[in-house]
Amino acid sequence: MRCFGPVPSRRLGRSLGINNIPPKICSYACVYCQQGFSSHMQAKRQGFYDPEELFQEAKERATLAQSRGEHIDYLTIVPDGEPTLDINLGKLIKRLQSLNIKVAVISNASLMGSDEVIQEMAQADLVSVKVDAVKEPVWRRVNHPLKELDLEKIKEGLLRFSRLFKGKLITETMLIKDINEKADELEAAAAFISRLSPAVAYLSIPTRPPALKWVDCPREADINQAYQIFKDHLPRVEYLIGFEGSDFSFSGDIEGDILGTCSVHPMREDALRELLGRAGRDWELVERMLAENKIVELDFAGQSFYMRKLYEGYRRS
Ligand code: SF4
Repeated sequence: MRCFGPVPSRRLGRSLGINNIPPKICSYACVYCQQGFSSHMQAKRQGFYDPEELFQEAKERATLAQSRGEHIDYLTIVPDGEPTLDINLGKLIKRLQSLNIKVAVISNASLMGSDEVIQEMAQADLVSVKVDAVKEPVWRRVNHPLKELDLEKIKEGLLRFSRLFKGKLITETMLIKDINEKADELEAAAAFISRLSPAVAYLSIPTRPPALKWVDCPREADINQAYQIFKDHLPRVEYLIGFEGSDFSFSGDIEGDILGTCSVHPMREDALRELLGRAGRDWELVERMLAENKIVELDFAGQSFYMRKLYEGYRRS
């Protein structure tokens, strides 16, 4: 199926997905890829599907959803591979925009060294780029890029893109235990990402079975440390750790509010106490949630933080 949804997404609201390339053709073979190993790796762009046919399919699906009263926030180009490999990407974005719904592209950023790709991506309304590592050895270990790809060229391209792009730019950094979760790597990644001025820098972890069996999720304490390092460099940092959560405003369901907020970022003790105070509840609720393993307490830089407990199955050790 080349079009799917609309499906709810925390980053994109209600998103109608569009697959613009056949499954698993990618320039990377990330160790955590949920699609399994890349069936075909390439960094050269080519035509895959007729953009007009894809547009008609997306239009039919969007019209059907809207006729049922379903709202669509984004038409999202998000194939099981790398969307910028499609030489018709620019044409497709333009055609989709004629439906008067915003267009998003979720990319691994590996072709951002190309001016042609930068110009095409700049037409979108929202672009999400992957920045898992900014140092060559770590990048090669986590993303397994094709040999001909050049990290410095990609980083320069991303900086050029961020200066040109008028839409909403977000970044995503996947944290992998023992690969890119170390403080020096995260410092470097956060410093680079801050130069892109993203609307939000997301930190994610593998939440579904990855391509390689040894790939593991960092511990909560390391995920918290990653957040604190990113927060020192970036105004808005959020987790994508498998919980979609609520809209994180005070809704009256205090336990749901705490879980929702702790899914997006760790909460400092004083902020948590303030939230409890507004709801007329005391610390006993937090102690119960800790005892029930819904949240965990973490120490960082002399302060206590609270984070949602990860699913047991996320981690192997
Ligand atoms: S860039 Fe995406 S599709 Fe390609 S290997 Fe990495 S996770 Fe999989």
